[in-house]
Amino acid sequence: MSSVESERPIVIGLEVHLQLNTSTKLFCPCSTDYIGRTPNTNICPICLAVPGTLPIINDRAVALGARMGIGLHCAIQNYSNFHRKNYFYPDLPKAYQITQYELPIAVRGYIDIEGEGGLKRIRVHHVHLEEDAGKLVHPTTDGRLTGAAYSLVDYNRGGVPLSEVVSEPDMSSPAEAKEYVSRLRQLARYLDVSDGEMESGSLRVDANISLSNADGSLGTRVEIKNMNSLKSIERALEYEIVRQNKTLGSGGRIVQETRLWDDSEGVTRSMRNKETASDYRYYPEMDLAPIVLTDEEIERFEKNMPELPWEKRDRFSREFGLSKDEVTILTEQKELAAYYESVVNAGAPSGRAANWVRMEVLRVLNETGGSITDFGVSPAALAGLVRKIENKELSSTVGKDILDLMAREGCSLEDAIECSGAAASRLTGDSLRALISSVVEANADVTGIIKSGQDKKGGKMKFLHGLVMKESRGQADPKEVSEVLSKELGL
Ligand SMILES: [Zn+2]
Repeated sequence: MSSVESERPIVIGLEVHLQLNTSTKLFCPCSTDYIGRTPNTNICPICLAVPGTLPIINDRAVALGARMGIGLHCAIQNYSNFHRKNYFYPDLPKAYQITQYELPIAVRGYIDIEGEGGLKRIRVHHVHLEEDAGKLVHPTTDGRLTGAAYSLVDYNRGGVPLSEVVSEPDMSSPAEAKEYVSRLRQLARYLDVSDGEMESGSLRVDANISLSNADGSLGTRVEIKNMNSLKSIERALEYEIVRQNKTLGSGGRIVQETRLWDDSEGVTRSMRNKETASDYRYYPEMDLAPIVLTDEEIERFEKNMPELPWEKRDRFSREFGLSKDEVTILTEQKELAAYYESVVNAGAPSGRAANWVRMEVLRVLNETGGSITDFGVSPAALAGLVRKIENKELSSTVGKDILDLMAREGCSLEDAIECSGAAASRLTGDSLRALISSVVEANADVTGIIKSGQDKKGGKMKFLHGLVMKESRGQADPKEVSEVLSKELGL
């Protein structure tokens, strides 16, 4: 359920820009590595559009665009081309952007998401390729976005390849929009098409939202930009639904415009009246030949597709007998999924390994701010630990300490077991029986109740069990404690 109510049906469509994982720009050999670089150092006459230069298409960008299209179940086009989109802005040295307009590389696809009422298919209108613009820098002394005395321009990002995924207006709540972007981002990461980082701008979302009229016809569409996180997409759309309902409810009308989301104030603000296609005076880019992909090339792209997120989810639940929730968490990142799979392949039981990866490994990564790719515990070491817990050589509590020692101190499994003192102090056999006897003796009143059969609901038994576990400082196995305790009480 969405957290905002709307009297009028909500219609949302999204345009998602993904920065493609290429080392060079879309039409020149300049590096795409612009973050943190000295401004205006990754540039050349081509991306600055010096007269007399010619753009040359980056084949890898084409391959990645096709890959994304295939992942979205689109039809990959044998023939696609570029147009010039004309607009004047200081971050665009050419005063036009080269983009696919009439004939994009991939058309008519879809992606399935978890909608409000179960699985929902969101149609994708098309995927096209285009170049990025430069960046304006507004040097305010206090970090504010507005109020600078002047602006600086950095063209390092100009010409970096993007693919834009344009959805049909199939989402009907902010939560669905957020879910769609997460699934798209996951797909792009699985395919190595883009790192999908919203914070650094590798993934940018423009949202179109309208509220339908009473007769079911579509209302006026408003475009929202400048949402830099999944959370802000949801918040911006929620804000806009409330604003539009209020305006329409009081007899006002919605203006077709572009609005900017202000994350700190939690509002959208009018930026400009939305340009229509004719404002951009699109015309064919005569300096670039069309992209021609033969059926054989498209087939090769299809054959080289890695396992997709939903395929991995199905396989994990089938092969490892995991629940939907477990599978969802383990496959969210393909690196985590690969790690889990290696733990199982190294001999850990799949269910217990799933628990350990999902709860403990993620806990440690969360606490240390690390990522699974540089996690210090090898899958084989975790498998060894999980097996020892499964065989009751170690309790889960001690196991967690051992995992921490391995992850944070870089200890091997053997050293960590040694350091934790688990091997020496583990309570079992005679020492466990001695501890249980002393607890039973010290609580004669409780044991009396149990022995006389008055502990019908087992509460007293649980109380004793808890005491033993506490006294053992987690060094005893709960199941073994139950067995020895029952024996001790003559049950
Ligand atoms: Zn260049």
